[in-house]
Amino acid sequence: MDRRLLAVTWTLAAAAFLWGCPATSDDDSSSTPAPATENAYSYPGDYALELLTDDTYSSIEVEVDVMEGALPTAEAETAFQEALDTLTEFMGMLCNKPGGVTVMPFETIPAPADKTEFTIEDVNDLEAQYRDTYWHDTTMVLYFLYLNGHSDYDDEEAGTAVVGYAYHGTSMAIFMETVNAKAAALRPVLLKTVTVHEFGHQLGLVDNGIPMQVAHDDPEHPPHCDNSKCMMYWLNNGLSLLANLVSGEIPDFDDNCLLDIAAAGGKDARGLTQPN
Ligand SMILES: [Zn+2]
Ligand SMILES: [Zn+2]
Repeated sequence: MDRRLLAVTWTLAAAAFLWGCPATSDDDSSSTPAPATENAYSYPGDYALELLTDDTYSSIEVEVDVMEGALPTAEAETAFQEALDTLTEFMGMLCNKPGGVTVMPFETIPAPADKTEFTIEDVNDLEAQYRDTYWHDTTMVLYFLYLNGHSDYDDEEAGTAVVGYAYHGTSMAIFMETVNAKAAALRPVLLKTVTVHEFGHQLGLVDNGIPMQVAHDDPEHPPHCDNSKCMMYWLNNGLSLLANLVSGEIPDFDDNCLLDIAAAGGKDARGLTQPN
């Protein structure tokens, strides 16, 4: 496989092309692509079982990169650390990982000059440049990139902004300019919610990597839960969080989502108090 293909932007067409491309005789590597390559052509939910069960991977590590300027105040840094703590608690609660779940100390990456709007191609390029770790041995690895900027998916006319998204099977991006534009009191819960929500997509929710035990998908906004109080409700990617922001608490995963996780080989967290 031509290594230059790594630079191909993330599109359905490119992915279809790559998967359809047979290994060539001048390719000495094994038929299993290197993790970085495999991840670059994967989709959220593709590694749900690797994350939920201990069949192949007994632990999870999370690599976190933060763009310079994304955490402009001490309060922002505190809220950010709390969001990572909450993520760690949810990983421990939902994933069968006897070897443990660990968020590594975050690294600061440079901010591109004069750039505040990021496309999915930009996000891919940043991951290719700065991500250090992919799954290895018995450790599954997730990657969070917190950008100092906003997404080009924002729609000013409609008044909507995307706070974050999961874009590959182990990769998530959060747009801190959008978080930091909210009132200070609202930022911590927004940051926690979007971080855990995107992680939920990597667990295969909803009906996007693990099967539903009870129909609870939202056909208008796949792959999301139809319960407006659930962590996996579509607006919890940050388009609107009014109810939660008022309460100051992040939403729980509802029983339908927790049942899917348990049935797929994750932990059964139904009835347990969820982190907040
Ligand atoms: Zn979502
Ligand atoms: Zn749900």
